[in-house]
Parts: sequence; structure tokens; C-alpha cells
Amino acid sequence: MKYAENILGTIGDTPLVKLNKLTAELPCLVLAKYETFNPGNSVKDRMAIQMIEDAEEAGILKPGGTIIEGTSGNTGMGLALGAVVKGYKMICVISDKQSKEKVDILKAVGSEVYVCPTDVAPDDPRSYYSTAKRLAKEIPNSWYVNQYDNPSNTKAHYLSTGPEIWEQTEGKVTHFVVGVGTGGTISGVGGYLKEQNPNVKVWGIDTYGSVFKKYHETGIFDENEIYPYITEGIGEDILPKNVNFDIIDGFTKVTDKDAAIYTQRLAKEEGMFLGNSAGAAIKGLLQLKEHFTKDDVVVVLFHDHGSRYVGKMFNDDWMRNRGFLDDEVTKAIDLIKD
Ligand code: PMP
Repeated sequence: MKYAENILGTIGDTPLVKLNKLTAELPCLVLAKYETFNPGNSVKDRMAIQMIEDAEEAGILKPGGTIIEGTSGNTGMGLALGAVVKGYKMICVISDKQSKEKVDILKAVGSEVYVCPTDVAPDDPRSYYSTAKRLAKEIPNSWYVNQYDNPSNTKAHYLSTGPEIWEQTEGKVTHFVVGVGTGGTISGVGGYLKEQNPNVKVWGIDTYGSVFKKYHETGIFDENEIYPYITEGIGEDILPKNVNFDIIDGFTKVTDKDAAIYTQRLAKEEGMFLGNSAGAAIKGLLQLKEHFTKDDVVVVLFHDHGSRYVGKMFNDDWMRNRGFLDDEVTKAIDLIKD
């Protein structure tokens, strides 16, 4: 018989899928590392379990303990699955910017959820960051995960995602393109691929309102680059320890509108029902067109599933209200307004 010991045994070994229509204008082969096949529907299951197991081994997370993380969804889901299977209590601290569905999903897998105000500075005691830290101090036998600076995040991708891509492409991968948030995915996969072949180029996808691209190009942490944005999962207003800028060849920024439109296009034109950062990643890859030639094998990683975005990028009213749709209905509404 062939079966997994528990649900955690199904993490990883995700498929690589060729893109066809959206990439028709490119000379090269484009393959998507399709991470929604993980049990929590995102790539984050990999790093969540690595962080838990490394904390267990280091004696930081002890039997009956409580896992605490400031997370809006995917990492919380992965940690929650680990907590259920391994018998820990899970607390997710999230900001009120997140949708109700995300809170309900985390509760469905047994997590306790604290919702904190978004419009306060990170060092304000009410922020989700401060609340997570305070809870970790107050609750005995608890462990604060901190995915931004936790090295097990990058390690998970160095040990699993990177080797899978290398083997699945039989070492032919020439470019790796991926959205950057905590930096774990790009640093782990990019680091591994460059160790196998230093000629592999690693491109990060950033968003307008985030510091990464400017910092990579100039070494300057420019606060003017920071402003609110809609794209989910990528970009930061801090420099997480998990972003290894040395292994990144370049960043390209994608607008909120393009990321949302391409999230819809992936579903409608490729049958790939995915999250918002996948839309940003494929649009960013298309922006890099002049870097690719005929024999290149470009791998793009798609982080999470479309179901978490049904009330947003897959909802035409939501899209229209933000000026992201240029369709007939929008034009008719504009005419009435005029
Ligand atoms: N996309 C989504 C949907 C995510 O949840 C994340 C994690 N914040 C990312 C992209 C970026 O991945 P990483 O944190 O590994 O840089």
C-alpha cells in the first residue's frame, strides 16, 4: 500500500506545468512550479513545517506548546496543519485589512485568531507585530515563529523546492522568477539553483509601495518607496533577514492593476485558478521579455490558490471599484456619472 503517514507527508513534490497562451509572445519555454498542490494550498506549508521541526529540534518548541505567528493566511495555514498533527496550540495574529474568509479558514483548522488594527505603526502596542510578541511573552511554553527572520524559512526551499525544480527540469533551468515577501522562496530556491549552475539568473517580482527593488539597485533603504498597495503576498516596508540580495540578479515591479488583471487572465486563459502574487509573477516575467532567448527554460513559482481571492481579484465589482477593469460596464457607469 502507498499512503502518507499523515497530511504533512503530502507536502512538496508539486508539479511543473507549461504555460501556453499567456506566454505565446516569448521565445522560451515557461514552466510554472505549481504550489497549490500542497495540502494547505500554498508553498508556505514547506517552510511552516521546517520552522516547526527545527524549533522542536532546538528545544524551543516543547510538547503541548503554543505556536504564535503574525500571519495573514498562508503561513498560518501551514503552521496550523503542523500544530493539529503534532498536538500544539496555534495562535494567528492578523491585521484587520485581511478578509473575513482568511480569518474563518484559520479558525477552521483549529487556530485562535487575534485581529489587530492596520493603521498603527509596527511599534504601537496595538499592532499585530507587537501583539504577537506580547502574547509570546505572556503565554507560558509558547514560541514566536517570526517567518521574516527565521532561517528555517529559506532552508525549507533550499532543501525541497530548489532540488525539485532542478530535477524536474533535468538541470536545464536557466531563469527563476518569483514574487518576494519574506524572501524565503527566492533565497532558498535561487541559492540552490545557483550552486548547481552559477549561470542561472534569479529575478524577484516586487510591487509599487515596496522597498526591495530600490534597495537592490542602490543599497539605500528609501522610505519614499513605502506607500499602501493592494497586491497581496509580495513587497515589504522592511528588509527581512530571509531576503538574500546577493543571489538576486534583479527585481521588476508590477502595478496593482496589472497584478489583478493577470490573476484573472491566468484563470481564464490557462485554467490556473491562483492567488494575486501569481498574477504579479507572470506579468513581471512578461516584462522581462528581452532577457529570454530561444533555448531558455524559465521557471516561475506560483505561491497560492485563487479561492482566497474570490471576493477580490475574481470579483468584477471589486475590480471596477478600483479602476482595474476597462470593460463595457465600467464605460457605461462612467457615462452615467458624467
Ligand atoms: N505570494 C504569497 C501569496 C505569499 O503568501 C507569499 C508569502 N508572503 C509570497 C508570495 C512571498 O513568498 P516569500 O515570503 O517566500 O518571499
